[in-house]
Amino acid sequence: MDKQAQYSQLIQKRKACRLCSELTNPSVYENGAFDKEEHIGPWTRWQGNLDAELMVIGQDWGGEDFYVTYRGIGDDENATNKTIRELLTFIGVPIELPQRAHGGSLFFTNSILCLRAEGLTGRTKEGWFKNCSRVFLRPQIELVNPKVVATLGFKLS
Ligand code: SF4
Repeated sequence: MDKQAQYSQLIQKRKACRLCSELTNPSVYENGAFDKEEHIGPWTRWQGNLDAELMVIGQDWGGEDFYVTYRGIGDDENATNKTIRELLTFIGVPIELPQRAHGGSLFFTNSILCLRAEGLTGRTKEGWFKNCSRVFLRPQIELVNPKVVATLGFKLS
């Protein structure tokens, strides 16, 4: 099976996943209005190149309100997004801001792919990291097989 077909299978598996009962899968939130068929998660809509040499892994994408406000794709004015773009530009890897990017040259994803009710400042649970890393993050790393994997700050609370 080719890379794209494997990725599509993983996306469908994520849409059906209910392992973390306190989180909301984007496939059901707002009837899945912003959950695209082509992406494993909202951050991958920004950068989702399956042949990327650099993969960036964030903690989670955020909360339900944020997801609806920005229609399932990142906010160009978000401080984290701006900083990531500046840092990548600094090392010679310029990318568009999320609302303007289409596919991109990198692969961005999150350790936790579902949405928290509390929003960006809400708590995270160890079990969510364990579940999603085992079932979805590791397969993404193996599939893309990047030269470099960069992880952003993670916080358990
Ligand atoms: S966060 Fe990951 S493991 Fe947990 S329910 Fe969502 S897709 Fe499944």
